[in-house]
Parts: sequence; C-alpha cells; structure tokens
Amino acid sequence: MMQALAEQDPSPVQAPRARTVIAASVVLDGKGHTLRDTRIVIEGSKIVAIDPAAGPVDYDLRGLTVLPGWIDAHVHITWIFGPDGKNAGQGGATPEAAYAAASNAWLTLMAGFTTVQSIGTPADLALRDAIAKGMLPGPRILTSAEPIMGKSAETGTPDEIRAFVRKQKQAGADLIKIYASGGMTRGTMTMSQEQLNAACDEAKKQSLRTLVHAYRDAVRAATLAGCTEIEHGLGASDDDLKLMAERGTYLDPQAGLLLENYIHYKDKFVAPPYFPEEAFEAMKGLIPTTQEFMKRAARIPGLKIVYGTDAVAGMHGRNAEDFIHRVRDCGIDPMAAMVSANSQNAEAMGMGDQIGAIAHGLQADIIALDGDPLKDITAVRRVVFVMKGGAVYKSDAHSVIPISQN
Ligand SMILES: [Zn+2]
Repeated sequence: MMQALAEQDPSPVQAPRARTVIAASVVLDGKGHTLRDTRIVIEGSKIVAIDPAAGPVDYDLRGLTVLPGWIDAHVHITWIFGPDGKNAGQGGATPEAAYAAASNAWLTLMAGFTTVQSIGTPADLALRDAIAKGMLPGPRILTSAEPIMGKSAETGTPDEIRAFVRKQKQAGADLIKIYASGGMTRGTMTMSQEQLNAACDEAKKQSLRTLVHAYRDAVRAATLAGCTEIEHGLGASDDDLKLMAERGTYLDPQAGLLLENYIHYKDKFVAPPYFPEEAFEAMKGLIPTTQEFMKRAARIPGLKIVYGTDAVAGMHGRNAEDFIHRVRDCGIDPMAAMVSANSQNAEAMGMGDQIGAIAHGLQADIIALDGDPLKDITAVRRVVFVMKGGAVYKSDAHSVIPISQN
C-alpha cells in the first residue's frame, strides 16, 4: 500500500491497492454479456483476470449488479448555478465557480460515471488535469476546450477554421466540438458544407474526433463532412439516419432528462432574451418529440447510438436518469441502454481498448448497483460501489467520503 502511494505524484485522493479481488454474482460486461458467479482481479489500475477461483476477496459484491463504470459522452462539467441561485453558465473563473465545478465532478463520479466527455469550455482543461493528477475525486474527463461556434460566414474561411482546430489541439483538447445549427426549436444550419468539411477534415488530420451539435439539415451535412458523432439530431429524416449508419457516424440523442431539468429549474434558468418564459412551455411539448426521435433512431439498422445527457447545471450526479427515460419512455432494451454508456461510448471515443468493459487488460472502472437494471431500470439510481482506475471511491450506500484503503 505504501509503495502504491509513493509511486503516485502528487499525493492522490485515492490510490489503487497492489491487488484487489472483487466477488460478484452478476456482472454485465459492458458489451452485452452477463457473467455469473465470478471474481474480478485488479492489479494497480487494471483488470488482470476474471477468475472464479481467485482470492482472497477484498470486496464482496454478490447480490448486486456489477458493471463497468458508465461513460457520459456529453456533459458540461463546469456548468453551475451561481451564489445567487441563478444559472451561471459554464467556465466561471471565481473561487465559487471552481468549487462548484469540483462538486459537479464529485457528484458525477458518485453516480457511477467514471468517464465523461465535457464539451464546451477551456475551463474544463484545469479540472481534467487536477483529477488526472489525483488532486480531486472525479470522473476521467475528455474535453474540447473552445468549441467552433457556427455563425454562418462569420465562422471563418475553411483555412481559418482549420487554424482554429489546430489551436484547440495545442491548448490540449481531446476532441473538437462544433455547433453546426441553432437550438432545438429553430435548428437552421449555422455552418456551410464547406466549413464543416474543413473542420472535420482538419480534426482528423490532428487525430481528433469531432462532436457536432446538429439538428435537421445539419445532421446530413455533418455526416457527409465525415464528423465522428452527432449530438441531439432532432429533425433528421430516416434517410439521414440511414446515411449515418452507413458511414459509421455515432448518434447521441437525449431522452428527456435535459428538458425536464430546464423545466424543473425554470426559475433559475429563465432570462430573456435567450431563455424567455415561452421557451419553457415549448420544452414541455418537445419531450415527446425527442422521445419519438429516440424510438425512430433505435429502429434504424446498424445506427450506433451512444449515451450522452448534455448535463448542464442541476443535472450533475443525475446523469443516470436518462437511462430511465430511454427504457421506460422510449422502449429501449435495458441491456442496450447499459452498453450505450459502456463499450459503445468507449468505442465512439476511440478508447475501446481502455474503458467501457469488464475484461482483461482494461482500466478497473467498476460500479455496482443495488438491484437489476435489466428488470428494473430505476436500479441505476442505486449506485453503491464505485471504483475508478483500481481505486475505490464508494463502497456502500451510505458512503459520502472516499473509503480508507488502509
Ligand atoms: Zn451540450
């Protein structure tokens, strides 16, 4: 133990043991399979064996459902409500904003999300790095730094857009976020095909993935541009979705939590002209529309649907609620819902050989639920064990602070 601590620099909030054995009666492996009555062996940060005969057991998770830590493909981890209780947006630079963002990270990890993709602000970079160094507890963060905001011709020439992509890479971005259309209700294209082509092509040249906020016509345009993943996607036709399936473009739709959150916290978000009173009325009608879209997308053969909540203020730590919407309101198979946040998300992030499954050689990101999400999807609310990279952050329903490893 002392040695493991000494190897980490600087002092981590939590360090993995040299060797940990978890006993489990039911393991969802993240790829759609169920393993029964087995043991997971972890050395350092990685899973080194799945072996029913391994011992001695350090954590007995029999009676629970064990699965890989979830991945949320779309959050805004620094988006908070300010000291006045009102929406303070993301990327705040005050001490209060920094602590609130750290709290968001903590809540997200405790909810079973061991990796998130935060797409929206350069402020994510410092939080990502602090967590990676072990200074704060939180999920592994991937971020886009500054996004490309589509503003028609003002977005820039293709060469300017390419330079912007390279600048984000230099700033430390893990991926590129692109806004290619307006909001949910309007959704007209804010970037031309030529501009999108330049953005996604340059990102590829820099070995970066592209996540594109897109509604309606922008979905097809981003797909044709060779972008990696479409966020939201509402208004895309079946033909657009079939094209995405053909091209292997991932779709990240939401199933109701985001809109519910805006409506629930209306008093905090309402602020004309961007968040007028009427917008919240319109959102009520949009919930069934987004759910119809999810159902329609799920019927497109070969379309790869990932899990992303678009977590803004009020949603951090409640990321699993959209699973309930997917399964209960959209008729998605519960195993498919789990896989979308495990191996499917890992694959979409190009990290399938590192996270998203319980298998030999992968990061030991392991959670346990009190209940069976395949029978009762609300079990996703009862995360009673969280391990990230071999370190345990939660080991029973009542833990609110990291468990001592000594
Ligand atoms: Zn978003």
